[in-house]
Amino acid sequence: MSNHSQKVTKIQNQFRALLEKKIGSPLSLNHSTKHTNTTRSQSYKSGCPQLDLSDLNSIIQIDQEKQIAIVEPRVSMDKLVKATLAYGLIPPVVPEFKEITVGGAIMGGAGESGSHRWGSFNDICLSLEILCGDGNVIHATPTQHASALYGVPCSYGSLGVLLSATIQLIPAKELVRLRYHPCTAEQAIQKLQELMQTSADFLDGIIYSKEKAVIIEGHLVSTADQLPYFGLKAKSAEWYFQHVEKLKHLEEVMTLTDYLFRYDQGAFWVGAFLLRPQLVIRYLLQGIFHLENKKNYNLSPEQIAKLRSPLRPSSFWRTLLHPLLSTKNLWKLFHFADKWAQVHSILQDFCIPQEKAPKFLEEVMEDPGTFPLWLCPIKSTQKPQIFAPHNTATSHVINVGIYGLPSYYTTSTENVTKFLEQKARSFDGKKVLYSRSFYTVEEFWQIYSQDAYRALRKELSAEGAFHEITDKVLSE
Ligand SMILES: Cc1cc2nc3c(=O)[nH]c(=O)nc-3n(C[C@H](O)[C@H](O)[C@H](O)COP(=O)(O)OP(=O)(O)OC[C@H]3O[C@@H](n4cnc5c(N)ncnc54)[C@H](O)[C@@H]3O)c2cc1C
Repeated sequence: MSNHSQKVTKIQNQFRALLEKKIGSPLSLNHSTKHTNTTRSQSYKSGCPQLDLSDLNSIIQIDQEKQIAIVEPRVSMDKLVKATLAYGLIPPVVPEFKEITVGGAIMGGAGESGSHRWGSFNDICLSLEILCGDGNVIHATPTQHASALYGVPCSYGSLGVLLSATIQLIPAKELVRLRYHPCTAEQAIQKLQELMQTSADFLDGIIYSKEKAVIIEGHLVSTADQLPYFGLKAKSAEWYFQHVEKLKHLEEVMTLTDYLFRYDQGAFWVGAFLLRPQLVIRYLLQGIFHLENKKNYNLSPEQIAKLRSPLRPSSFWRTLLHPLLSTKNLWKLFHFADKWAQVHSILQDFCIPQEKAPKFLEEVMEDPGTFPLWLCPIKSTQKPQIFAPHNTATSHVINVGIYGLPSYYTTSTENVTKFLEQKARSFDGKKVLYSRSFYTVEEFWQIYSQDAYRALRKELSAEGAFHEITDKVLSE
């Protein structure tokens, strides 16, 4: 029996024992609160029996000839990329944070700058090994259990437990040659659309203000023709969003690994808010010591207006706070003061059909007026992916990432999030469900197919064994 099979048998035994013991409460996975890039509340887990998946952290096989990797779900992107690069290969979609796991990327439908060609991370999965609610294991492929291959991704563990995935790989090159296209926000999506017609391997963009945006085009290359080099190894290295804002060269080169994880230090720019003393004090007093009732700690709208742009950390602060401000540690800090952090930040991604995205962007820049914004085109899927935000009839969606503080709120971002959810709906867009969502259950099922979900819950015996998706993703 292979090492992986032994682990699966152990998990099946653990699962069956928990199922026998449990008193009407669904199971949850025990890893997520310790180590997660998901920012919504994990409170639905309290009191639930927990299934331990921590052993499932190995790369089972890399087949150089077939260009595939078979991997367990707790393998991080960092580890996956290192292992495949040893064979001269990489996954064509690599989510930007080093610690995003294969399981989280599949269950959360992660996308990134290779997505305009390949779709989301789950679109590069050729098969999934899934533990069903009755304790049996299935292998879902395009010809067997196809509804599970397409329906389980983006279901946030509510249909089954992922045990392994077979991932498509492509030949890697050592470097990424970058071409920067400065433009206005109004021109940004059109520029992305033009570049989507080219051979670009990677495409994304940052909008700093209505007047200033940069679209970033990347190509895998082996040599750099003496282009300027930008690297992220030094602790003092500029965070990528800062570097792009102050561009010195319109073309440059990065190593492939630096490029893939370029937004990891600082989590795009979220970490820059931690350099604001006014926010740090409140994080400690209100978030950690729970002095919520002291109204004088609340910020006035005028103060917030000043704070809402992330600081551009200096070399001194970048070096001093380097370990603290990796994405991994930032989310740990976030979850220490989970309740406070949720209501004092806005972390949302919306996928809008490309034809409607310019108008959506225009309106979002007015209200809530959060900057910077992240743009990432994603190739749509027409497969029956029940909860995939890029499941649309149009060829591409544009992911608009809103990470920061809105311009006008005082103590809660709930209304801003609701406002954005309704706006995205009015543009036929869908959100990525890793962060807070305020749809009512009825609204949720107007967006996603409840019939398809119920049918798959039944097929995979998930009823009673795993939480309903609405219990997991909708905020109380
Ligand atoms: C500010 C911000 C920016 C982001 N930007 C990006 C981005 O640029 N690109 C991108 O791709 N993503 C981005 N994300 C989202 C991120 O990809 C998702 O949150 C992803 O799901 C996190 O992966 P994880 O490994 O931390 O998952 P976890 O938080 O560990 O898990 C995510 C979900 O999947 C379930 N799950 C995990 N493993 C399994 C399993 N083995 N079986 C069944 N269910 C399982 C969990 O129960 C949970 O519901 C961003 C998030 C934030 C906060």
